[in-house]
Amino acid sequence: MRVLKVSSVSVLGMEASSFFELSEQISDEIMSSLSSLEDWGKADGHPGQYKHDVIADEIATPQLVAAGLGVISEESEPTGLDKSFVVIIDPIDGSTNANLGLPWYALSLCLVHNEEAVASFVRNLAMGETFRAELGSGAEKNGHKIVVSGVADVEDSIVVFNDLPTKHFGWRQYRTLGSAALDLCKVADGSFDAFVDTGEGLAIWDYAGAALICKEAGAKITDSESNPISYQLGTQRRQLICAGSAELHDTILSLISQ
Ligand SMILES: [Mg+2]
Repeated sequence: MRVLKVSSVSVLGMEASSFFELSEQISDEIMSSLSSLEDWGKADGHPGQYKHDVIADEIATPQLVAAGLGVISEESEPTGLDKSFVVIIDPIDGSTNANLGLPWYALSLCLVHNEEAVASFVRNLAMGETFRAELGSGAEKNGHKIVVSGVADVEDSIVVFNDLPTKHFGWRQYRTLGSAALDLCKVADGSFDAFVDTGEGLAIWDYAGAALICKEAGAKITDSESNPISYQLGTQRRQLICAGSAELHDTILSLISQ
């Protein structure tokens, strides 16, 4: 892995391919390490963290730093924020699912340049399903292009929630699965028609990677005030609404704010 350089758009493709190579390597190492983990409990000396969070972060963050990247991780202090490229990483999104033995948890990596997401990579660490996207080039799952469902009517929609639905606004079915990164990616591939966060809001590492994948697959994704997704490197939590069509997005936003 060569050190990533400040790029023009013309070399962005090369930058993204280096990023994807590194992401594959990191996720392979995390999956291999977790495959022999017997205790998926709390980590001693790391308040609020599970053993698997610490293991994944200790594999990922040093490799990102060694590649010349700044890093914002859920599990460690930010580093190298003056670099041209910064990776926003959730080493494991859905840690409680992992603790419970539920195969719905993921590594999420988002490469950011000038406060814009340029490439992202999300892998289900239990089942291996891999999503990636590059700015302007579409999104894919396991190497195949993905697009959103395009469902426009709420009564036809299957909605995945982060936290408890506050009221029934007319969906056909709903789920709540516990990994925002994977839930959003399943809107990107058309499995779900919408994602709605009814909780305390998501941190940037929860949504950064999957948000680019959603946008590149044709989803409309905003916060609950209809603002575009921000990749500003702050700590503010945001409630997100994402849907596989602009019509469905706008309808849900208006229904939940009534
Ligand atoms: Mg996490």
